[in-house]
Amino acid sequence: MPESKTTVIEPATEGVLGEVSCAGAAEIDEAVARAGKAFPAWRALTPAARAEHLRALVATLESHHEELALLEARNAGKPIGDARGEIGMVIDTFRYYSAAPERLLGETIPVAGGEAFTVREPLGVVGLIVPWNFPLTIASWKLAPALAAGNTAILKPAELTPLSAVRFAALATEAGLPDGVFQVVTGSGRVVGARLVEHPDVAKIAFTGSTEVGSAIAATAARTIKRVTLELGGKSANVIFADADLERAAAAAPGAVFGNAGQDCCARSRILVEHAVYDRFMALLEEHTKAIKVGDPLDPHNEMGPLISGAQREHVASFLEEDDAHVAFRGSAPDGPGFWFAPTVLAPMSRAARAVREEIFGPIVAVLPFKDEAEAVELANDTIYGLSGSIWTRDGARALRVARAIDTGVLSINSNTSVRVTTPFGGFKQSGYGRELGAHALDAYTEVKSIYYSTS
Ligand code: NAP
Ligand code: MG
Repeated sequence: MPESKTTVIEPATEGVLGEVSCAGAAEIDEAVARAGKAFPAWRALTPAARAEHLRALVATLESHHEELALLEARNAGKPIGDARGEIGMVIDTFRYYSAAPERLLGETIPVAGGEAFTVREPLGVVGLIVPWNFPLTIASWKLAPALAAGNTAILKPAELTPLSAVRFAALATEAGLPDGVFQVVTGSGRVVGARLVEHPDVAKIAFTGSTEVGSAIAATAARTIKRVTLELGGKSANVIFADADLERAAAAAPGAVFGNAGQDCCARSRILVEHAVYDRFMALLEEHTKAIKVGDPLDPHNEMGPLISGAQREHVASFLEEDDAHVAFRGSAPDGPGFWFAPTVLAPMSRAARAVREEIFGPIVAVLPFKDEAEAVELANDTIYGLSGSIWTRDGARALRVARAIDTGVLSINSNTSVRVTTPFGGFKQSGYGRELGAHALDAYTEVKSIYYSTS
């Protein structure tokens, strides 16, 4: 049977960028068998040897930094500067977890008649399913701790953005990673992804994507008691109090939602502004939004690229067709070809609007005024999601009160950042469960074994 292929589109030009094989369930079964075969030897390596493999991978990635950034910029339609930063984070993530094999610590626990202690064991073959918005970055958050802990892994990239994963797999082989320890299988979520989730010999699925697919994955995984971590959608609030450094907050707000053309689970897609500074904030926001340079991702001056696909652009545009979508102002965007969409600010909005309730995953932000701290917290929490968020205020006590009161996995004060290699990342509520990055991610790729040794 001839191997089936799918074409990969460049979102900024709508032209064909490449071609990858479109696997079926049989290829997943083969990959799982190969990963299972590779597992005992990988797990049995000394911690120092596994660490050395990860360091070799870091060195290989470093020497291909620009190549990978260019591939990611073209395939995902993201500004080249952003892509360079993201590949930098991929490298930093592998560097951070290259120290982990030698630091997987256990505990000793006082008991009667002997000694009790814990050790960390790898899970086995793990399946990693990732989306198209930060293709290699999100994959690295899963793959690096998985390999460090002694698992073998199969990555299924999104059909829209498989190119960096395919190249990465070749580089991993070049770096000397043993056969079967890491594989990429390209194909559709419905076939390849679903088979990975069903497969009885896959111990765990780490997923990032929509809440809808995440929910289906958790249901299927329950049949084989597979471990699952889910990083799903978000509708994060950017809360701006009247006592904030308004210039800074307004200058940062567009980047917090229009970055990656809004296709970011951490996008601050709801801006909550205290009444007293609403007009002043909106004037500043307009100035900064209109200044965003949207265009060719390979021009280093541009700050925003196109959306990932025509279908995504239709989905995003549908929010502007609602009767209650009050467009306050918009930035600019090039004409076609390319899946362009101008940065758009909806204001003032109320909580019932679809653009306030649903994740848009595009460059649209809704601004809602609030009267006091209690209302700000209540509005921030009025969502099924709980992934990220920001608080802008000069009152330290208030910053800490509000940070504790908002139900969200990560939060920043006087900043819009969400992810760091060293700190845990993940959601509350329907934004998912489990934590990636930092030391916490290792919990997601190991089982705790409790051993008792009788001394009598
Ligand atoms: P999605 O369908 O959840 O896709 C994410 C990944 O899951 C892709 O690799 C996809 O494969 C795969 N997949 C799809 N159906 C599957 C199934 N039944 N079993 C196993 N894997 C499956 O997300 P999307 O359709 O690309 O985007 C839809 C919406 O999801 C967005 O508009 C946004 O709201 C949200 N989203 C969130 C994030 C995030 O970072 N949290 C990322 C992307 C999207 P294929 O795509 O190759 O078919
Ligand atoms: Mg989908």
